[in-house]
Amino acid sequence: MKAQPRIAFLGLGIMGIAMARRLLDAGFPLTVFNRSADKARPLAGAGARVASTPREAAGAVDMVIGMVTDDPASRELWLGANGALAGVARGTLLIESSTLSTEWVRELGAAAAAAGCEFLDAPVSGSKPQAIAGELNFLVGGSAEAVEKARPAFAAMGRSVVHAGPSGSGALLKLINNFMTGVQMVSLAEAMALIEKSGLDQARALEVLTTGAPGSPIVKTTSARMTARDYTPNFQLQLAAKDLRYAMAEAERRGLTLSTAAAAFEIMNRGIQGGRGAQDFSSVIEEFRKG
Ligand code: NAP
Repeated sequence: MKAQPRIAFLGLGIMGIAMARRLLDAGFPLTVFNRSADKARPLAGAGARVASTPREAAGAVDMVIGMVTDDPASRELWLGANGALAGVARGTLLIESSTLSTEWVRELGAAAAAAGCEFLDAPVSGSKPQAIAGELNFLVGGSAEAVEKARPAFAAMGRSVVHAGPSGSGALLKLINNFMTGVQMVSLAEAMALIEKSGLDQARALEVLTTGAPGSPIVKTTSARMTARDYTPNFQLQLAAKDLRYAMAEAERRGLTLSTAAAAFEIMNRGIQGGRGAQDFSSVIEEFRKG
């Protein structure tokens, strides 16, 4: 039987810890790194090797996967003084699964090529529950050969892989996906607030919305959280706003203004300024409950 590729997983936040756990459970020899070392402890207990820098983690593995906050975090992770690229051997497959701007992803792809490595941008759709269950959807940019090499790891963490096109295509598709998701979330929040203020029977009204034309998966799952006022983060408001910012910049570069994204971004920012950045993005409804 062919040996499983050795994997380094960098970034053990809400998504990363669940994804790394799936790899470990599937039997991949796993090395992990997280900036705050305490988050790596549960995985160390389950058999992962813990590295103290991305550089250390990336040496002597076949594949490196990154899952961190945003462009600056990803830059530090890969290109920092102790970054992964300083430690990789030529021929290592590098995979960035964070949601990032296409500009940065293309720069990172070029840096990977200069280090003799293959690179995939492979952000995911799905949130914490899907990461835990191994049901993410990988949106991938890069060569078909690299996608095939990564497939066993993707299969351990997800239920599907969409090869969107050349390098940067996965990042671009993800930004478009999250632009629509963010706008739908704010639109749902506004609709819920209107239902609450109008005196309509809330359960009946929500039944109509969730089973009718507006009933997208995000509307179905988050209306209950808004009703319960449970804002334990699956997806932080500050990350949803970051995605809208990257999507708007992407569109601007192509001569398009995403006006619905701009409206949603402005409302999310009010929530962030009010101290809710680290709460789940469904907490954006509180902006409409105020007045
Ligand atoms: P998170 O819980 O906030 O985790 C962020 C991770 O990034 C942590 O491990 C953090 O380390 C690390 N990090 C931040 N700055 C860093 C730096 N300068 N150097 C090294 N590591 C750094 O976020 P998440 O929800 O897991 O999201 C991770 C990525 O996936 C984001 O790009 C997000 O947009 C995307 N995403 C999220 C979801 C979701 O539903 N949550 C779904 C799809 C995609 P510390 O622990 O030390 O802070």
